[in-house]
Parts: sequence; C-alpha cells; structure tokens
Amino acid sequence: CGIVGILGRQPVAEQLVDSLKRLEYRGYDSAGVATLEGKHLERRRAEGKLKNLEKRLEAEPLKGTTGIGHTRWATHGKPTVNNAHPHATERVAVVHNGIIENFRELREELEKKGTVFHTQTDTEIVLHLVDDLLTRGNKPVEAVKLTLARLRGAFALGFIFAGEDDLMIGARNGPPLAIGYGDGEMYLGSDAIALGPFTDTISYLEDGDWVVLTHTSASIFDKDGHAVQREKTKHAAST
Ligand code: GLU
Repeated sequence: CGIVGILGRQPVAEQLVDSLKRLEYRGYDSAGVATLEGKHLERRRAEGKLKNLEKRLEAEPLKGTTGIGHTRWATHGKPTVNNAHPHATERVAVVHNGIIENFRELREELEKKGTVFHTQTDTEIVLHLVDDLLTRGNKPVEAVKLTLARLRGAFALGFIFAGEDDLMIGARNGPPLAIGYGDGEMYLGSDAIALGPFTDTISYLEDGDWVVLTHTSASIFDKDGHAVQREKTKHAAST
C-alpha cells in the first residue's frame, strides 16, 4: 500500500522504516524492507505494525545503502510474513502497490515453463517475469521494460537488483509514485509525505511512466519507451 526506495550513501534500513511510518495513514497489515548487502539481496519482513519490522531489524540488522520498503494492504493472499513484500529472487527484489489483473494467466504461463511460485500474491508474477528475463541474459532495464508491457491493472512498482548498487527502477500505472531528488542520493516514494524527510524536490510519474534511477540521475520514460521530462516541484522538507 505504501512504497519507498532509497539509493543512498549511508545504510538505509532505518530511513526506509521511518518513511514507511509516514505512510501508515494509508493502512497496512504487514511490512518489509530489502537491501543490497554487498552484491546480495536480503529482506526483513513482519506481520502487523512497523514496530514488529523494527524488532526484526534489531535482531538481524541490514547495512545496505540501496533499498526498498513496503507496507502491504493485502488484496491477493493472506497478510502473512510469506506474502509480505518485498518479494525477491536471487537476482531481483520488488515492491508493489495495487493489483495485477492478469496475474493468473501470466502465472499459468510461467508455471508451464517450470517456475515455482512461493506466495499467493498477484505481485509474485512481476518478480518472476523480471527474473526469467534476467536469467535469459536481459539487462535489468530491458527486463523491466519487457515485463511492464505484459502487465494489466493498477500498479506502482519499485525494483532493485543483485550486484547493482547504483540502480533502482520504478513504474506507475494508477497508484501514485514520486521520485525524490537528493544530493548524491535518489528516492522513490508513494507520495511527497513519504519523501519529506529526505528531500523537498520531487517529480510525480504519470500513468504509464517508468524511471531508471542512479544516485545522481533519473531517466523517465513513457509507456512507449520515449524519454520524457516530468515537472519538478518543491515541497516543504520536513523531519
Ligand atoms: N496486490 C498486492 C498484494 O496483495 C499489493 C497490495 C498493496 O497495494 O499493498 O500483495
């Protein structure tokens, strides 16, 4: 239900949770974060309140400087730890807001090819479509682009990739998603409130847009893959 992503210079787990707290007003039943630990993706997830996620992180801290976080309001699959986002394979981690309407047919297609699904969520299809394309040798940007072309429904998405500490990809079709511009850091978030602690300069993606972020750049594309500019607006930064 809420999304945040940080391409940072310091460990980001705590900042991700702080940002998720600012999205609590939307309601949620579980939460999680994923970061790049060295070259590997690692996750911590918990049912219920963010306090539970904080306890998980205290017990097993994450140090990564690239990460994504999510508060989930379950639509497909019970609100369990296993169904909580981020969803991840060895290669890619994803957070998702909304509903992938054609997930059943896409899931059947991949299951026929031997993909094993581990959750009841509609979101997991996005994970495996991207993972499958990465396995076939596509680069992350290409894998996400090809995946987005297959999805129907409402989504805001955030992706990070194993071995890629200077890359985050976001996409929007329905639920809002904003880019935050920092000083050598870049952010993704469901709204300006989520990004308030980090930056006062944001751009909202439009429906069909997707964005490739590095620590110092944001390249936005529309649904046809054309590079587009979206207006930068100033919001009062808050702590
Ligand atoms: N449909 C997804 C799920 O049930 C995402 C729900 C949300 O927006 O939090 O996992």
